[in-house]
Amino acid sequence: MNQEDKIKQAAELIKKSNYIVAFTGAGISVESGIPDFRSPGGLWEKYNPNEYATYSNFLIHPEKYWTMHKELRDMVITAQPNPAHLALATLELEYGKLKVIITQNVDFLHSRAGNTKVLEIHGTTQTSRCLSCDKRFHFTEVEAFLDQGQIPPRCPQCEGLIKTNTILFGEQLPYDVMEQAREEVIAADLLIIIGSSLTVYPAAALPSLAVQTGKRILIVNREITPMDIYANVAIRGMAGIIMPKILSTLKELIN
Ligand SMILES: [Zn+2]
Repeated sequence: MNQEDKIKQAAELIKKSNYIVAFTGAGISVESGIPDFRSPGGLWEKYNPNEYATYSNFLIHPEKYWTMHKELRDMVITAQPNPAHLALATLELEYGKLKVIITQNVDFLHSRAGNTKVLEIHGTTQTSRCLSCDKRFHFTEVEAFLDQGQIPPRCPQCEGLIKTNTILFGEQLPYDVMEQAREEVIAADLLIIIGSSLTVYPAAALPSLAVQTGKRILIVNREITPMDIYANVAIRGMAGIIMPKILSTLKELIN
């Protein structure tokens, strides 16, 4: 089947679905200028995750994590939601079909695009907390500490270590968020998977759950994924190009 037919099929899937859940990974943010951590040019090439991004190392060498974070922060601050993020915002805000986004990304771009319900299963860089007294900090407060040269930043209340609410290697995914994500997948009639290689567990267990529970599945990804064979439609390409095409076809189908 050629891509045009697949786009039409994707639009038809969306048209007949009323409780859509999206599952997004690093691929959707690549087009906003945030390289996939795992790919060439990604953060892991420069910062070995075993050294810079494990929870146990964070406790011993927090300055390493924060050095890496500064680079990620610079990318996140300058990044803008791209047409794929905006298409998902349209599916929620204009069509009322998209009920929730489950994302592996920590860049806040879905919320900035306008989506109101986003489950961040790998946490977020938007907030931080003190590991000693649990005081919470907003992004801008931590930024101020970093700009004053505090690496690692320390809690002004108790001098404890401050950590972003992202999930490091060796940390559990947030149980309540994962549980909500599972419930949403079970409630869904269509799962749209965008920009995820679907190889990173436990996150990739959610698309598997959709397969097991017989949901309709649409995949938009640059590379083939292990779930393509289970998808109703799998489109290979740039999400920022494919998603707007699907939406304009949907518009024609509905009007
Ligand atoms: Zn504290």
